[in-house]
Amino acid sequence: MDGAREDTASTGRSKVRRLYRGARRARMVRRMTTRLYYADAYQTEFDARVVERADDGRRIYLERTAFYPTSGGQPHDTGTLGGATVRDVIDEGERIAHVLDAPVEHDSVTGRIDWARRFDNMQQHTGQHLLSAVVADLFGWATVSVHFGAGVSTLDVDVPSITAEQAARAECRANEIVFENRPVTVSYEDAATASGLRKASAREGTLRIVSIADLDRSACGGTHVRATGEIGAILIGKVDKVRQSARIEFVCGMRAVERARADHDALSRLAQSLSAAPHEVADLVARQSTRLKDADSRLRQLETELASRVARERYDAAQPDTAGVRRVVERRVAGSLDELRPLALATSSLPRAMFIGAVESPNASVLVAASEDSGVDAGRTLKAVLADAGGRGGGSARLAQGTLPSRDALDGAMASLGGAR
Ligand SMILES: [Zn+2]
Repeated sequence: MDGAREDTASTGRSKVRRLYRGARRARMVRRMTTRLYYADAYQTEFDARVVERADDGRRIYLERTAFYPTSGGQPHDTGTLGGATVRDVIDEGERIAHVLDAPVEHDSVTGRIDWARRFDNMQQHTGQHLLSAVVADLFGWATVSVHFGAGVSTLDVDVPSITAEQAARAECRANEIVFENRPVTVSYEDAATASGLRKASAREGTLRIVSIADLDRSACGGTHVRATGEIGAILIGKVDKVRQSARIEFVCGMRAVERARADHDALSRLAQSLSAAPHEVADLVARQSTRLKDADSRLRQLETELASRVARERYDAAQPDTAGVRRVVERRVAGSLDELRPLALATSSLPRAMFIGAVESPNASVLVAASEDSGVDAGRTLKAVLADAGGRGGGSARLAQGTLPSRDALDGAMASLGGAR
């Protein structure tokens, strides 16, 4: 990522020497921390003098450090310092604070960087520079922001959307440059005269410039691999639209291998469950999805047919009331009102008919339907009954439903509706 504190590195050594002489005289000036990772990202062990302690020795400042602090989007290093575990590394501008899990009392300490984590961060970071350069060269997209995550990293580019073909092309080109094993180098140049930077730096004075041979020059304070081959595979994941930009997920190195392995395993399990080869899965799933839709619509059709037969049978067996209306009643111990709907609709399509349905659990609920010529307004009838029974609901003149607070209330409502057994 651009814009880390590269400036301080170049002027660091001579400035530190000057400051140190001054500090020895005045014993007032706080010394700037020399950042060893600027010069050598591969240094995993170092000795340093403790220059200040805070927080009962759990927060220490060193004359120099190889621990990378969270900055420029790159996560901080972990490891040990004087035997304590380094929990956090904080960039305070001139100095770097090391936050430890235990106090360190010695005046001189040895630091050890967790190399696996550092190298993984280096792979993601150099991979990001490479990918940013590739999409700029191929499509003219500028990188607007970058995030290095614990799982995946993301690159936001100034384009509203990206096609799968573009993502695949960028991935292919990026990996070609990985295979070419191009040198990645660091140089220090004056901001006023530094040319060919992918993104102009707002900084003045000396810039730390990270270059990928014949591809990219970016001002950056991060740790990088020494040649593109060390990035390993670059795998692009999903692409999302985020406000005016497109967000590209990517992983590099072992993360790409692990992701490919996980995806392959998932696909293999899927293929096995379908008794198919992995390359057949997409077509097979699409075909099965169509068949499922067809089966669903056939099922609904059969349900309607069945409901119509059952409704006719019950209707024929029912005695008309004084108004000449026949009631079909269906009460179930468990289920949902949706399951009663086909029967309700089938009943209300018969002459002078009324349907009263109830479900006891999980929610005591009731469904009323009435045919056009029944003289019954289902919504109004149910509302009156619910008001008495402490329930809630409503609906149209033809179909209405509601819920009741208890089974007793449901029994009362069914009796009022003429649906008691
Ligand atoms: Zn960078």
